[in-house]
This record gives sequence, C-alpha cells and structure tokens, in this order.
Amino acid sequence: MTSLSELPSRADELRDRLQRVRNRIAAAGRPAGAAEPHLIVVTKYFPASDVEILAELGVREVGENKDQEAAAKAAGLAHLDLAWHFIGQLQSNKAKSVVRYAASVHSVDRPSLVTALGRAMAAEQQRRDGEGRPPRADLSCFLQVELRSDAARAADPGRGGALPADLAMLADAVAGTPGLVLSGLMAVAPLDQDASGAFARLRELSDQLRADHPDARSISAGMSSDLEAAAAHGATHLRIGSDVLGARPPVR
Ligand SMILES: *Cc1c(COP(=O)(O)O)cnc(C)c1O
Repeated sequence: MTSLSELPSRADELRDRLQRVRNRIAAAGRPAGAAEPHLIVVTKYFPASDVEILAELGVREVGENKDQEAAAKAAGLAHLDLAWHFIGQLQSNKAKSVVRYAASVHSVDRPSLVTALGRAMAAEQQRRDGEGRPPRADLSCFLQVELRSDAARAADPGRGGALPADLAMLADAVAGTPGLVLSGLMAVAPLDQDASGAFARLRELSDQLRADHPDARSISAGMSSDLEAAAAHGATHLRIGSDVLGARPPVR
C-alpha cells in the first residue's frame, strides 16, 4: 500500500509539469534571432494556492480570463512579484476593475473597449494619486485577432476578436489613448484549421501592424496543444494552462 506521504504533493506535480513545458519551449524552433517566448501560465479555475506554488517555482506571469476570479486572486497574492495578464473577453464595465491589477489585456477587440480602458486608467491614476501612491505603469494592450473562417464565425457568432480589416483603426485608437500602450497582437488558433497556418497569418498581420507601429512587436499566441507551432511563427508570449496545471474542472 502507498502511504499518504508517498503521494506526490501538488508542488511536486506542478514542478514536474512546469519543467516539461519549459523544456518544450526551450526545444521549440523559433525565427532566427528571436528571443525565447515569455511563458504566461493560465491559472483560471485553479486556486490561489496553485499560483503561490507556481510563483515559488519561478513563474512571474500569470493569465486569467474572468475579472471576478482574477481580482480576488490578485488581491490575495499582492505580496508576490507577479504580472497579471487578462486574456478573456472583457465587458467595458469591467475595465475599471481590471486596471487595478492587470499589467496587460490580451483581448482588446473593439473601439468601445479602448475608450473604456483609457477612462479606467485615468480614473485609476487619480485614485492612486488621491491615496498618495505612485502611478501604475501604462496598460499593455494586445489586439485580439479573429482568425476563423467566415463559415466558422457564422456558425458561432460569439466574439473571437477583431477582424483583420479593423486592426489598423483599433491600433491607432490604442496608440492615441493616454495610459495605454500598443504591445501587439493576440489570437487563438481556430479549431477548424491547421494551427501552423493560422499562426503564419498572424505573423503577417503583425508585420503589417509594425509598418505603422514599430514598437508593437509582441505576438501572444500558442496554448498547451500548439505552443511549438506558435513559437515557430514568432510568438513572443505563450499562454499555457492545462499542460502546467492539469485538466480544468469541466463546469465553468
Ligand atoms: C484557457 C486559455 C488558454 C490556455 O489554454 P490551455 O489549452 O489550457 O493551455 C490560453 N488562451 C486563452 C485565451 C484561454 O482562454
């Protein structure tokens, strides 16, 4: 019989899984001269205690997709040196909350959200000033790009990002808003396509964006199942959840 003390602890499990993902990232091919992509560990649905273990294992960037859950975790873990990335669909009325803890938003997909984030940043700086605290850093913004085919979008019209044709307008809106910094693009590879083709397209769109916004170099792409394809096409930020934390609980 296995005694309780021989069962692997959650810390052991996370250490092993994280190491495997780090090894995959190090081994993944990437464009000549490109730095190793940032690893953002997506901790949605997992408890703050897991985030604490990950921080101890050297993770510095975490991703969350729901404001309520993220705000609670970030507040409880404020003593840790972590950058919080907001990666989920964002309602404009949550902008005020998100800018209290998030270093970046990866899901900027419409002009009304840019306006809301700009206003939220102004209010947040004022709030900090009123409390005698230093201002926060500008909010790093990634434009989320819709890469699904017209047919796939028609079948599931939920928001999947801005259309490529709207990126230039959105980029100008972010760049023209005080408190926001245009970091680059973000996408999720469509289920009905080869991930490599989708990430190649994202890379082209990134090259176009940089013609007008040379500093918007970041590409947030790649999840557990397709991080190698994303890295090969120049992803600078990988968003990895289940391969580090395990399968997410099925009900959300
Ligand atoms: C959940 C999520 C991820 C992580 O996905 P895994 O397949 O668990 O690695 C990445 N990006 C976004 C936008 C997500 O919502």
